[in-house]
Amino acid sequence: MMTALTRSAADRLRTDFRGQLILPGDEPYDAARAVWNGAIDRRPALIAVVGGTGDVVAAVRFARERGLAVSIRGGGHSAAGWAVADDALMIDVSALNEILVDPAAGTAVAGSGLCWRELDTATQAYGLATTGGVDGTTGIAGLTLGGGLGWLDRLAGLTCDNLLGAEVVTADGQILEVSADDHPDLFWALRGGGGNFGVVTSFTYRLHSVTEVYGGLLGYPADRAAEVLQAYREISTDAPDRLALYAGLVSAPPAPFVPEHLHGQRVVGLIPVYFGAAEEAARALAPLLAAIPPVLDLTKPMSYQEVQRLVDGFNPPAMHHYYTSEWLYDLDGQTIGELVATAADAPSPSSAIIVKRMGGAAGRVPADATAFWYRDVAYHLDIHAQWAPGRPPGPHIAWARAARQAARRDWAGGGYVNFIAADEGPDRVRAAYGGNYARLARVKAAYDPDNFFRLNNNIRPAVLAGNGRKWEQRDRG
Ligand SMILES: Cc1cc2nc3c(=O)[nH]c(=O)nc-3n(C[C@H](O)[C@H](O)[C@H](O)COP(=O)(O)OP(=O)(O)OC[C@H]3O[C@@H](n4cnc5c(N)ncnc54)[C@H](O)[C@@H]3O)c2cc1C
Repeated sequence: MMTALTRSAADRLRTDFRGQLILPGDEPYDAARAVWNGAIDRRPALIAVVGGTGDVVAAVRFARERGLAVSIRGGGHSAAGWAVADDALMIDVSALNEILVDPAAGTAVAGSGLCWRELDTATQAYGLATTGGVDGTTGIAGLTLGGGLGWLDRLAGLTCDNLLGAEVVTADGQILEVSADDHPDLFWALRGGGGNFGVVTSFTYRLHSVTEVYGGLLGYPADRAAEVLQAYREISTDAPDRLALYAGLVSAPPAPFVPEHLHGQRVVGLIPVYFGAAEEAARALAPLLAAIPPVLDLTKPMSYQEVQRLVDGFNPPAMHHYYTSEWLYDLDGQTIGELVATAADAPSPSSAIIVKRMGGAAGRVPADATAFWYRDVAYHLDIHAQWAPGRPPGPHIAWARAARQAARRDWAGGGYVNFIAADEGPDRVRAAYGGNYARLARVKAAYDPDNFFRLNNNIRPAVLAGNGRKWEQRDRG
């Protein structure tokens, strides 16, 4: 019934629509509704693969008129599956993939359907880059709007700190050019506030010169995990901004570069990435290598694009995933011990606990300068449960929750909005925005008072109290 109704209605949307409209039963439907997380199996009423900003306006108006909920698909990487919802209209921006690099100005205008690999390729042709996600297939849209962590954030700030402007289609179908000068309240909210405020069709980024890079994987056996994490903590505490440092409690992949006896074994991996000359990098990494010699050292000079491929392959297609996250003020000895013990208990060899050193340029931005709140934290803890299709999810989700709890002594108060799970509830969304939530709720009330864009880590619009003068945080919508 829904299909027949929507098919005839869809014909009206088809007039002047440049992109593609896909309905249940159409040949491309199953591929178009699939997202990165194989555990997500949802059936939208209609998929609008937009061909331009005009299509976004038409799709938003169409959904409003028919009372359809809207999900927005950028790169489809949200592990929570926010890009797709049952019976909703999915606005898929993946065909908005133009890139205009202006090397003289040091900027790039990028269609919101791009993934990081595509944007990096275009900017690196000029020896430039902006902070992007560590997996090349992640969409630039969701990542930028949630904040954006990556190898470059200690040197160049978060992705959202490098956002200079955006074109946005709002809930009432208006097209807004948003920047520090135009709609500054919305510009503030877009830098961390996720997909709550409209459909972004393009982003303008500040670019940085990124030419000499040195980095790679260091591997250690699991029985030295606590010592390695302790050394990682010590070295990362005073690390220069040019040094990015990730640590992972993972299983060694059966890759040719991994010694055979370690295949499938739980190991500790560190990935240092130094932005600068090889000699400087060697000096910066020497204390780490001296503290505990790795059994595997793949560090070397590499291009930024090679760096951006370092963790490709850790997530084979079609696997099922559950992510959760926490910002940490420290990584004390007891937390390290509990995380190591929890990692050893993972019910799936593919599950991982990843710690990323924060700070540097990203940490020097005031917490209220953008919607992204957790500036003064020391680490991001990313817990990634991953299991094969067909297995019951329960044990893996329970393990991820336990791993988050294992770090409770060092919690800063919330998680990263791009990694929290959909079942964690509205309190976790509020906590993810810390002291910025109330202001975000007011911006939401100004641009999306009916909470039209609600299929996301949702910021509820603030409402004016009875006297019409005071904003309240009462939930609405
Ligand atoms: C393997 C993997 C690696 C990752 N690595 C990193 C990392 O290094 N750093 C990091 O910060 N994060 C990382 N993430 C998290 C990532 O930032 C989020 O999953 C993000 O949502 C991905 O963006 P997307 O466009 O691919 O998502 P989608 O699933 O397409 O969308 C997610 C949400 O973003 C919003 N959205 C998407 N497109 C638009 C748009 N055009 N306009 C408005 N709203 C939109 C919508 O609300 C949507 O619900 C990683 C995720 C995965 C799975």
